[in-house]
Amino acid sequence: MKHKTFILLVLSLLLSACSTPAADSGKLQVVTTIGQIGDAAMNIGGDLIDVQPLMGPGVDPHLYVASEGDVTTLQNADVILYNGLYLEAQMVGIMEQISEYKTVVAVAESIPSEQLLASPIYPDEHDPHVWFDVQLWSIVVEQVRDTLMEADPANAAAFEANAAAYLAELQELDAYVKEQAERLPAEQRILITAHDAFNYFGRAYGFEVMGLQGISTQSEASTSDVQDLATAIVERQVPAVFIESSVPVRTVEALQEAVRARGHEVAIGGQLFSDAMGSPNTPEGTYLGMVRHNIDTIVGALLGGN
Ligand SMILES: [Zn+2]
Repeated sequence: MKHKTFILLVLSLLLSACSTPAADSGKLQVVTTIGQIGDAAMNIGGDLIDVQPLMGPGVDPHLYVASEGDVTTLQNADVILYNGLYLEAQMVGIMEQISEYKTVVAVAESIPSEQLLASPIYPDEHDPHVWFDVQLWSIVVEQVRDTLMEADPANAAAFEANAAAYLAELQELDAYVKEQAERLPAEQRILITAHDAFNYFGRAYGFEVMGLQGISTQSEASTSDVQDLATAIVERQVPAVFIESSVPVRTVEALQEAVRARGHEVAIGGQLFSDAMGSPNTPEGTYLGMVRHNIDTIVGALLGGN
C-alpha cells in the first residue's frame, strides 16, 4: 500500500511538471506491459518506432508493481499498450491516471466480450490470458495496428503492410498448433499447469485444462487443490504436468509428491511460457516462438507417456 501511494505521489509530481519530452530519435515511443504486446508492436512498427516492454522474461504480470523507473518510462511514452482484463492487477490505477492525458490502450479489451471466457475467481472479470488462442490474439494485433496508425499517421501505410504480413504468420501459427494438437488422441489432451493461464488454449485447441493455482498467481494453491488434482492424475493416467517460466516451481513439485504418495509417478513435461515470453534473442523470446515451444513441449510430453 505504502509503495502504491508513493508511486501515485511521484506520478502527480511528474504530471505537475507537465511537459511531455520529445524523444531524441523522433520516432514514436511505445511502452508496453507484457512482452507479447511489445512483440506485436515491434513486428508492426519495425524500425519506424521505439518499443519498450516493461515486463521481461520470467516476470509475473499479476504481481508486477511499477517501479519509479517505470513511472518515468510511462511518462516519456507517446503510446502505452497494456493487456487489460485485470491482468496487470497492480497497475490499473497508474494506467487510469495516465490515460487522462495520453494514449493508453488496453489492447485485449478490444476482443468482443462474447468471445472472452469468464474469470473463475473474480465474478465480474474475464480471463485475461487471451494470447493462448492465436485467433483472439490476432484481434489484439489489429488493435495494436490501429492504435499505431492513429498515433503516427505519416507511417500508417507501412504499419498496415507490416501488420498484414504478421497476421498471415499468425494464421500459419494457428494452423500449426491445431495440427500438432491433433497428433494426440482427444482423451490424452489433458493439460495440467501451475496456474490457470491456459483456458483459452484449451478451448481453441481441444484440451481439458487444469491449473493448480487459479487464474491469478495472487492466490496460493490450497492443499485440497493439490490433493484433488493428484487424484485426477492417477485416475486419468496423465503422464506429465508442466511448469511455467513465470510461476515458482514448488506448487507443481507438491503435486508430484501427492501423486507419488498414491503410488504413481507423473513427470514434469517441461517448462511452458505462460504469462512471460523467453529471453530476447532466443526463439521463445518472440510470440511466434513461445507458442510453438509450448505446443511442441505439451504434445511431446503427453505423447511420450505412451
Ligand atoms: Zn496468469
